[in-house]
This record gives sequence, structure tokens and C-alpha cells, in this order.
Amino acid sequence: MRTAEIRKRWLDYFEAQGHAVVPSASLISPDPSTLFTIAGMVPFIPYMTAQQTPPWKRATSVQKCVRTLDIDDVGKTTRHGTFFQMNGNFSFGDYFKADAIRMAWDFLTGSLDDGKLGIDPDKLWVTVYYEDDEARQLWKDIVGLPDERIQGLGKKDNYWSTGQPGPAGPCSEIFYDRGAAYGPDGGPLIDEGGDRFVEIWNLVFMQYEIDEVKSKEEFRILGELANKNIDTGMGLERVAFLLQGKDNMYEIDEVFPVIEAAQKLSGKVYGENRDDDVRMRVVADHVRSALMIIGDGVRPSNEGRGYVLRRLLRRSVRAMRLLGVDGLALPSLLPVSKDAMAASYPELAENFEQISAVAYAEEEAFRRTLASGTTILDTAVANLKKASGGEGGVLPGEAAFQLHDTYGFPIDLTLEMAAEQGVQVDEQAFRSLMQEQRTRARADALAKRTGGADVAAYEALEKELSAPVEFLGYTQTDASV
Ligand code: ATP
Ligand code: MG
Ligand code: MG
Ligand code: MG
Repeated sequence: MRTAEIRKRWLDYFEAQGHAVVPSASLISPDPSTLFTIAGMVPFIPYMTAQQTPPWKRATSVQKCVRTLDIDDVGKTTRHGTFFQMNGNFSFGDYFKADAIRMAWDFLTGSLDDGKLGIDPDKLWVTVYYEDDEARQLWKDIVGLPDERIQGLGKKDNYWSTGQPGPAGPCSEIFYDRGAAYGPDGGPLIDEGGDRFVEIWNLVFMQYEIDEVKSKEEFRILGELANKNIDTGMGLERVAFLLQGKDNMYEIDEVFPVIEAAQKLSGKVYGENRDDDVRMRVVADHVRSALMIIGDGVRPSNEGRGYVLRRLLRRSVRAMRLLGVDGLALPSLLPVSKDAMAASYPELAENFEQISAVAYAEEEAFRRTLASGTTILDTAVANLKKASGGEGGVLPGEAAFQLHDTYGFPIDLTLEMAAEQGVQVDEQAFRSLMQEQRTRARADALAKRTGGADVAAYEALEKELSAPVEFLGYTQTDASV
């Protein structure tokens, strides 16, 4: 079943159950606490916290999401994309646990002929918050799930809150068992993050009002909410890969065509070498994320969302180089991703000229940076290895600083490329050189300041100079890109 078909079945099903179909909000998060929209409920937060009155009691959506937190898992686990779609159904003070559980089960296991997904009920397990006896009982009473396929977990896994005083509550998650070939039996509790039991759907029961919040796991329950809410999120790509009989989410119809294009371009065959497979999955994921992020109006830059976008594009290009492709890569990949996504997002086709111009310009700029910086870095690494008798070693902070300052070579790239050659970087020394440079720039700006007339300009400059650049972390395995 194609991804677009699952999406359609979802919206039709929940519409028939009285939900208003709400279009996806932008990836640019409407909630200022995150850069990107990270979950289906984000656009509905004002309704959940009762700051606004919702125009409907029930809503459903397929929300575009980006989670930069998951970037290091991409291509290595079977189920983490930087971009993915979260199917959600929401109740604002209307139905609660019993109906949320009933509808989730019905949609997953109901007959294909009735517009549902036809999943074998014996493959499904659920987790509940260990003290939520009500949910456990409902899974037995409504669905007839045997007790041994309902597992209790603690706050870390099965409790939702924003980390702020306000609504909170237990959740219940549905897992799909892929069978003995993927790991030992025993349910998600044993499998923890493994490949056998794949989390597909999270049902959040917003039940309590909390305060005295010390952490997501330490707070006081004030009492029951007057208006209890339901917030659920089903991972569209996860359900798609399971229903399509694929091994992972990068092999679904909306993503795999880019892997095929990467194979063609590189001459490498997917499935032959793990490191290359990870790179191809990273390429397919990042190209798609970049496409969707640019489509929502973000442009590459050195901070915030623009930096995340820049990093996704650069990582795609680097991964292609590690696959042996030295020429331009994006012009062969981005249109393929657009075609794969256009059934669900026709606006991508309409705006593709503009979207692709942004991506291609970034690849050109990155190639220039790479060309100059790589030679310098390789020479420095070779000298270091000679000095240490062929062993790795530590690249001095000054070298990393020079690469950054003179060649515009970002530190994350230096770290990644050095790690690939078994060399570490004196990051602390690099950071203190950066700090010194900032202090010097500030002093210069002060010296130039005349009288005190342009305090505002100085303040703006200072703010700009001290703005932290988001660092998303990097990985040290040789498959990292
Ligand atoms: P996991 O434990 O696998 O990282 P999660 O618990 O972080 O998932 P939730 O925050 O509960 O995920 O999000 C709801 C649903 O969205 C998940 O059950 C899953 O199906 C989907 N989902 C979450 N993160 C991703 C991702 N990075 N890529 C694809 N789907 C995702
Ligand atoms: Mg997660
Ligand atoms: Mg989880
Ligand atoms: Mg979850």
C-alpha cells in the first residue's frame, strides 16, 4: 500500500468519526520553543492548554515534522527520519481513553475493504504507564488484548508533559512485532529500541493538571483536568514500511527512489556494504528533509533553521562524495525526491524551480568551500600522522581555527573529516580561539564607536557576535558523513 494511500485512509477514517480534517501546519514551528514542528499536536497547543477555544471538538491531520534530535540515528536505525509525517487524531475535551483506544485498534486491524489497514492483531503489542490501570483494562475490555501483550513502563517512556506547569498525562504506545528474525521475543519492554518491536503509534491521555515541575519525571499532580484531551501520533513512514514489507523507512515509495538515483550516480549497489547503505539512506533522508524545509520557506544560513538546512544539504553532498561521486549530486537527486513526494504535496512541483535553485546554489557554494578546505585539512592530518609515526593524533585548535577563519570550513565538518582519518581535534583550543576573536571584534567595534551615538548599532553587533551557532553533534563511526 502506497504511503499516500495510507494517508488518505487515515484522513477518511477519522473524518467519518467526526473529526475536522486540518491541513498540515508549516515546518516552521508555530510554537516558539522549537525551531521546527516536531509533532502533530504542536499547532494545537493553544487548544490543549485552554489558551484558545478550539473551533472543533475533534480534529485530524497529517503533520509534516522535523526532528533534528534524531539526526544521528538516521540510516542506522530502521525508523528515524529527520523529516517524517505524523498522523494525528485529537480530542479537545471530547472523547477520551476508551474511544481513542477503540479507534486506533479499529483503524489498524479493521478490514482493508472497509478502508482500514488490515493488520494482523496478533502482531500488535501495547505499553501503558504502569500505574494507568484504566488504560490496561480498556485494552483488555475493548480490544480483547491478552494481559501478556500489555506492558507497563515508567514516566520516561509513557508519560507526557511539556516540562511546564499545565496539562500532562500518561500515554499508551502501540508496537508492531516483526517476528523472530529481528530479535528475541518478550515485547517492547525487552526489545528497548531494538528492531523487532517497532513503535508505530503513541496515544497521549491528557488527564491531569500539574505544577511544581522539577523535571519531566518529577512534578505534583494538582488534580484532574476539567477538559481532558486526546493527542495521538502515528508515524506514517513507519506504518508504510511495515505494510510495504520493507526493512526500514528509507525503503518506502516516498524515499527509496532517491536511493535508486544515488546508486545509479555512484555505481554502488544498495545492500552490499553497510557503510554505503547508511550513506545512501542518509542521502535519501536529508535530500527529502531539505526539499520539504526549503518548500516551507527556509533558506540556508549560519544560524537557527537555516543552519539546520545548510547542514542537511552539506551532509547529503558529503555522503555522495564518500560514495565516490565528485560531480554535482543534488540536480540528480532533488527532482527524484520531489516526484516521490508530489502525490501528497503538489505544491512542491509548482514551486520546484525556486526550491531547487536554493538547494543547487548551496551545493555550489559548499563545493568551493570543500575544495579549498580539504587540501589544507589533508595536509595538516598527513603532517600530524608523520609526526606521530603513522598513528592518529590531535589536530591543534589553531589549524581548525584557520580552516574556519580563512576557508569558511565549519568546525563540525573539520571534526567529521578528521574523525574519518582517525584524528581528533583540540576542540577546546578551537573554541577559546573563537572566543578571543569575538572579544577582539567587540573591542574593535567599541574603538570605532564615536561618542556613544550608535549604542544601538553596537548592541546589535554584540548580539550577532555572541549568538551561538547551533551544533547538532556528529558521529565518529566511519559511516558518518
Ligand atoms: P522512538 O522511540 O522510536 O524514537 P518516539 O517515542 O520518539 O519514537 P513519539 O514522540 O512518541 O516518538 O512520536 C509519535 C510517533 O511518531 C512515533 O510512535 C513514531 O511512529 C513516529 N516518529 C517519531 N519520531 C520519528 C522519526 N524520527 N522518524 C519517523 N517517525 C517518527
Ligand atoms: Mg524518539
Ligand atoms: Mg518511543
Ligand atoms: Mg513514543
